[in-house]
Amino acid sequence: EPQVDPDPSKKTLVILGTGWGSISLLKRLDTENYNVIVISPRNYFLFTPLLPSCTNGTIEHRSIMEPVRTILRQKKGRVKFYEAEASSIDPERKVVRIFDNSEIRGDITETEVPYDMLVIGVGAENATFGIPGVREHSCFLKEIGDAQKIRKRIMDCVETAAFKDQSPEEIDRLLHMVVVGGGPTGVEFAGELQDFFEEDIKKLVPEISDRFRVTLIEALPSVLPMFSKQLIEYTESTFKEEKINIHTKTMVKKVTDKTVEAEVTRPDGTKETVVFPYGLLVWATGNAVRPVVKDLMARIPAQKNSRRGLAVNEYLVVQGTRDIWAVGDCAVAGYAPTAQVASQEGNFLARLFNNMAKTEALESKIRELSSSLNLQPGNSAAISREIEEHERQLRRIKDIKPFYYSHQGSLAYIGSEKAVADVTWFNGNVAAAGSLTFLFWRSAYISMCFSMRNRLLVINDWLKSKVFGRDLSRE
Ligand code: FAD
Ligand code: NAD
Repeated sequence: EPQVDPDPSKKTLVILGTGWGSISLLKRLDTENYNVIVISPRNYFLFTPLLPSCTNGTIEHRSIMEPVRTILRQKKGRVKFYEAEASSIDPERKVVRIFDNSEIRGDITETEVPYDMLVIGVGAENATFGIPGVREHSCFLKEIGDAQKIRKRIMDCVETAAFKDQSPEEIDRLLHMVVVGGGPTGVEFAGELQDFFEEDIKKLVPEISDRFRVTLIEALPSVLPMFSKQLIEYTESTFKEEKINIHTKTMVKKVTDKTVEAEVTRPDGTKETVVFPYGLLVWATGNAVRPVVKDLMARIPAQKNSRRGLAVNEYLVVQGTRDIWAVGDCAVAGYAPTAQVASQEGNFLARLFNNMAKTEALESKIRELSSSLNLQPGNSAAISREIEEHERQLRRIKDIKPFYYSHQGSLAYIGSEKAVADVTWFNGNVAAAGSLTFLFWRSAYISMCFSMRNRLLVINDWLKSKVFGRDLSRE
């Protein structure tokens, strides 16, 4: 098909990011109303809730990815996609500066994209709090590449520990898997890791298997602080049975290539430094603001006091701007940085923009009819009726309520086919844990998968790893 030029009668809507917020917006947006341009360094959507399951091969990474191009092909109105990172946003000139940060680059790697309306859905980066050694030595768990790196390193640790003449201390270090951060990411990963060990590594590499250990380090007094108390206790006792060591009130201060140094607060309030030698270190201490967002915040006086992201109003408009909206982890709307929030925000913006387009179309129709009223006085009764009808429609449409988040509950996998769930059911709160909850967790995630293709691939992966065991190839 030939390249179509932007339609000058339509506004240009630029959407940054292809994550939960942006893709939910795109899915429901009537793209015929705008010249839509999507910009993201990642040409796919990633179903993050199942990412921890990719670190041990329960799920193959491509099963939870959906190419943007496939998503865009299904849209009625043409959408442009540029695989690029937004490096800065100029709200005065209304342009986004973008650059191609991928391996293959053409003559042009950097340019500007003008917008009439801009949606920022760039997510967040990994928080390290400037702790020395974290960036150099640990693995994060946010992107597909992170999960692949972890999977490879687990097996590298195992094979290196099994290397001829390795000393017992070195075997202990290599097989010590340390996870920092007891939020849901850290907990789910620790659970997956223990499954991998129990169900596969133990059988296939029996000579070293009794040395494999998983340690979860958390600065606060408990893991999963957003879950209810009984579920925290259930998680902690399940971890104990699974032989995952939990160190709470332990704050990591420094990381080297082979050790983690942490400050432990003892029950009597005294502090002590503890050193954990490790083979694999996974860092999951939550979110930090991306540079492009920080840069924009610095340009808008109304964002002076925001720290954790772009402060938005109840319509998700970035405070201090008129034509910039923000969704998901980069926006501060008073909710937790979760996929659930991001996708509801994206859906809201789709409704808002569809409405705005309808409103504008009706308004311009009314303007047109009003001017024809003067030109055709003989027809005035009929034209007036038409104007009234349009105005009635306009009133109905204009009434769009502010964004409202409806919390469906929190779910987390904790290993050995058990999960914890805090869900709202028939207006009541239900806390559930165990194997049935695990089945609920699986069916909930299957129903949330992006496409039928993803759903089938994930089910297939689950069956495959159950029947044949996980694949220990280090690739
Ligand atoms: P993201 O989904 O992170 O998407 C950001 C997008 O912006 C990406 O496409 C990225 O490539 C792109 N981008 C980055 N920089 C730029 C740039 N400079 N210019 C343009 N584009 C850019 N939440 C739940 O509710 N339930 C769960 O079970 C759950 N499990 C999780 C498991 C893991 C391992 C992780 C890491 C998170 C999990 N979350 C879960 C949280 C959830 O993934 C995030 O809250 C959600 O992804 C936020 O959506 P977003 O659209 O803001 O950002
Ligand atoms: P988080 O912010 O929820 O948890 C990070 C944890 O790391 C905190 O408990 C913090 O006290 C701890 N920490 C920080 N610095 C530390 C240090 N130096 N030493 C030891 N511990 C330290 O981060 P997350 O788990 O990555 O989650 C991010 C967001 O994604 C959250 O909103 C979460 O709800 C969401 N998420 C949800 C699910 C799910 O629902 N199943 C899964 C993953 C992520």
